[in-house]
Amino acid sequence: MNEQGPHCFTLTGRWLFPISAPPLARGTITVQGTRIQEVEPAGSRTPDIDLGNVAILPGLVNAHTHLDLSGMRGRCPPGPDFTDWLRAVVRHRRGLSPEQIEADIAAGLAESISHGTSLLGDISGLGWSARTLAAASLRSVVFYELLGLPEERGRQAFEAARAWLASTRSDARSRLGLSPHAPYSVGRSLLRAVADRAHQSSLPVAMHVAESLAELELLGHRRGLFVPFLRELGVWEPRELIDSIEAVTRCLAGSSPVLFVHGNYFDPAMDIPTNGTVVYCPRTHAAFGHGPHPFRELLARGIRVALGTDSLASNPDLDVLTEARFLHERYPAVPGSILLRMATLSGAEALGWADETGSLSVGKSADLVVVPLPDEDVPDPYALLLTSSSSARAVLWCGQWVQGVGRGPLGGSSPPRAS
Ligand SMILES: [Zn+2]
Repeated sequence: MNEQGPHCFTLTGRWLFPISAPPLARGTITVQGTRIQEVEPAGSRTPDIDLGNVAILPGLVNAHTHLDLSGMRGRCPPGPDFTDWLRAVVRHRRGLSPEQIEADIAAGLAESISHGTSLLGDISGLGWSARTLAAASLRSVVFYELLGLPEERGRQAFEAARAWLASTRSDARSRLGLSPHAPYSVGRSLLRAVADRAHQSSLPVAMHVAESLAELELLGHRRGLFVPFLRELGVWEPRELIDSIEAVTRCLAGSSPVLFVHGNYFDPAMDIPTNGTVVYCPRTHAAFGHGPHPFRELLARGIRVALGTDSLASNPDLDVLTEARFLHERYPAVPGSILLRMATLSGAEALGWADETGSLSVGKSADLVVVPLPDEDVPDPYALLLTSSSSARAVLWCGQWVQGVGRGPLGGSSPPRAS
């Protein structure tokens, strides 16, 4: 044990990825209690634990998911008609008991932690996941989901959200936010009310936006696949429809963090307010067969882009590192350093938690994930990490092992060796 005390230990492995600095070959990280005490190059300090052929990176940040849809894995594969998929989700939700919702949230949470997630942006029907996440071994923002295109429905949804905010505690690991669902399900009055409340109370906001061509057709022309869908649900009220995607981004401009989820059909040149982040969910995007996502153009303009998995209703798992690996394969010209930042620090910045987590930086929470590396000699450490397909992870959160190393064998197929 390190001479600095019983709660102090130093780890090393083949590559350390601080994210806030370039990768360190055989770098060391020293943990004191719940915090990162030092991040140093090889040779500065004798490690207590040598994890061998592994990457050590900050805990992953999943900027967008819906834990309460975790029971839908593989049950309604995304297809070309987005509204058909939405119908399946609505049917599923209406059939769930409170006990099933609780169980699905718990299952999604356990899966998230097993992949090494240390921060989660969870959109939650009725804010249901707040209680579970307040006791979880990760940090989170729980976004209360609001739906209401007709004005009266919007008013009811907003009152329910206000009551939830008043009765639910934000604490050291779980904060509260609001999620006006999407431009096809939220009227202009509700969006305005949410934006005002977020501004007054410095609440983060997450909203699905520019997700499908059908959504653009609805806003631009008041027609297309969404019209029969909204009629079926008894919520078709064209007077309340928001005018355009730009009207959404303008309305949410301000000082609170705003996550524009998907942005699949954002004009790459459009104005994105400085408090906004685009959250790209690569495998879900691909599963729906959308055209190329504008993330490279947005990044080139200095706009923050973070990664999310979306829910198990549209994605095979909740692993953000697999999203980054998927992008590395599809877009090999995008530097690995950018992809890994999107899976960690950019998400922490987007969710307003970057002072605590998202990088291996002195003073931040000791949140990290250990990923086995292939036995290959590859000069680019990012390529080594992103081309590997290993799902094994050891996970340290707030200085405590929640999976692997100090808690025994890892999940997955090729555990790193401790020496
Ligand atoms: Zn979503």
